[in-house]
Amino acid sequence: MIQLYQPLNFMGMVYREIKQAIIDIEKMFGVLSRNPEVKDIPGAEPLQISAGTVRFEDVQFSYDPERPILKGLSFEVPAGKTVAIVGPSGAGKSTISRLLFRLYDVSGGKITIDGQNIRDITQSSLRASIGMVPQDTVLFNDTIRYNIRYGRWDATDAEVEAAAAMAQIDGFIRMSPHGYETEVGERGLKLSGGEKQRVAIARTILKGPPILVLDEATSALDSHTEREIQDQLEKVARGRTSLVIAHRLSTIVGADEIIVLDQGRISERGTHSQLLAANGLYASMWNRQREAQEAREKLAMMADEN
Ligand code: ATP
Repeated sequence: MIQLYQPLNFMGMVYREIKQAIIDIEKMFGVLSRNPEVKDIPGAEPLQISAGTVRFEDVQFSYDPERPILKGLSFEVPAGKTVAIVGPSGAGKSTISRLLFRLYDVSGGKITIDGQNIRDITQSSLRASIGMVPQDTVLFNDTIRYNIRYGRWDATDAEVEAAAAMAQIDGFIRMSPHGYETEVGERGLKLSGGEKQRVAIARTILKGPPILVLDEATSALDSHTEREIQDQLEKVARGRTSLVIAHRLSTIVGADEIIVLDQGRISERGTHSQLLAANGLYASMWNRQREAQEAREKLAMMADEN
């Protein structure tokens, strides 16, 4: 009986592992390929990156034909530079990152990388060239090591740990019950928003892509965590073509160009100082965020005094 039980038990375990892996993949692809209409064209070639210039040319897009979201958007992220997209909630900022990753196809206009229309190249080569640090990082129900290695499967343990150290999550991992072998996710260790984002940064460091898309989390992090994450992101972005979708203007003051999106159109563009001088939508968003920050700091000081 025991002889029979052991293999069955083992098979049960393997079955559960495989089932979990399938759920993980489904979860990931639920995020990555929401739209089955996005397909490689017959004979699609892989993307050839020379410099890494990203261009949006008169891009139009709607999720639902009745409601246009992007209404003719043109901008360039020159190779190695950082362009930030800001604007009111619902303006279409995250949609831009989804289109660049080709989770959806544009309804009009085109997106090119080094002159190649992203509709004409293989999705796998496109996604291999872009490092995405999304708003909400999907963590697999597996070890922390597995979750970081997701950035590049052939990375050695030492490379995984070096990436974690750069993303400043190494200390946290070493203090976890089983270090890098600690299970995370529903059944294991739960990570905070900031910790998850650091895992995403570590993955991106391992992947080392020529193009970066950083979709900043909407939820406010405490200012210390925010500063640390920001420093890491700046290190990762150095020398790479970077598109930053920003909710907190304080994080993109140094961007080469800031594009202000309003109701699917570019309403202003320029550097931080140019936009402040223009005294338009950006300047009013900046003043509002600064006042809110000052109020938060005052409250925190009052709480400390009590
Ligand atoms: P926020 O600052 O709040 O994150 P955003 O500028 O990033 O906003 P998007 O997420 O790009 O805005 O969304 C733009 C508009 O598209 C919103 O009105 C949103 O409701 C709508 N939208 C987003 N995703 C979908 C979807 N999958 N299906 C239908 N409509 C969507």
